[in-house]
Amino acid sequence: MRHKGALISILENKKKKTNKPPGIRFRWRQRDERGQIVSQTRKATTSTSFAPRASTSRARLVQHLGPVTEEESETSTSGLESTPVLNIDEEISILHREINILLADLEDPECSNPAVPGASHSWSVRKELSQDRWRESRPEIVDSLLAAEHASQKICQSCNVKRAILRCRDCLPKQLYCEDCDVSTHAKFPLHNRESMIEGFYTPLPPTTAISLHSDGKYALHEQDCFLPLDVPEVICGCLTSTIHVGPGKHIILVGINGRYNVTVPVLTCTTCLSTWTANLADLIKNGYWPATVNCDTIYQVDLFSSFEELKVSAPGMSRLAFMRILEQRTDYFGRNGMICGDTFQKSFFEWTYSMATRGLRTATVS
Ligand SMILES: [Zn+2]
Ligand SMILES: [Zn+2]
Ligand SMILES: [Zn+2]
Repeated sequence: MRHKGALISILENKKKKTNKPPGIRFRWRQRDERGQIVSQTRKATTSTSFAPRASTSRARLVQHLGPVTEEESETSTSGLESTPVLNIDEEISILHREINILLADLEDPECSNPAVPGASHSWSVRKELSQDRWRESRPEIVDSLLAAEHASQKICQSCNVKRAILRCRDCLPKQLYCEDCDVSTHAKFPLHNRESMIEGFYTPLPPTTAISLHSDGKYALHEQDCFLPLDVPEVICGCLTSTIHVGPGKHIILVGINGRYNVTVPVLTCTTCLSTWTANLADLIKNGYWPATVNCDTIYQVDLFSSFEELKVSAPGMSRLAFMRILEQRTDYFGRNGMICGDTFQKSFFEWTYSMATRGLRTATVS
């Protein structure tokens, strides 16, 4: 295949470049996002232990291997010690691996490029073969789909004793829980999307609902607090940490890429001296949340903003309201409820964008 040959020749050329002729020195030069060479003095301020090593292919692409003139060599001598040393063989082996994965995709009829000459079949034949494979597999796929929806009686995969009454695919590879193991496991992962099995089929269960077993042997649903996941302090006063009690505080709305959650901010109370601690704005931001308003009645997960930003770049026609509808659909899909205000989201998104830009400017000034 011509593509394969071309890719391998690129690798070979890259390898040849490393066989530097005597008298010429090579070194890695870092480029910034706009392709400008980052000065050595700036590199020297960035310790190797703090700067992420160029381990991804994208990061490697911004690095440029080029001959260094004597002039450049003199000006950069002081910064060479702090420059991350990249092993070219290691880099080439990673590139080889990535190219092999890409080539495997190319050989798949689903992903084959009709423009690749030398392919064994024409584009239309490959499409037809692919259609045939899908057609043959359809009955099996439908059977698998129906079987997956049947909530048969199984044992809890956590305690291996009690009957499983709940499924959580966010917990895979273990996904079936009894009512006790559900509470103990999801106290640590409160935002998981669980499904009840007590009715013989899977029903989405909001994190504010738990299942309990009554004395008559019947299962029932009851309300519970869904605590906002937070990095809470281990010590809030001078007393022993074992005296700290975690209780419910303010009820707020959390919005993430999976929609809206009704959550409770935890309040830590020392049972000895009655000191309390709850998260303030700085704690929320430190934990990856962003306030919709300064009193934090609604907060967003910041990755939601970066997804929205990316969406506005790749699909500029997508309206804010359409994005809100997607989030509301995901809320409903996972058994939760409630509206999401688009105006509040937009205002908060602009504030986040402003703060991110200001942070970037301050970082640049400091470095
Ligand atoms: Zn269990
Ligand atoms: Zn889970
Ligand atoms: Zn205390």
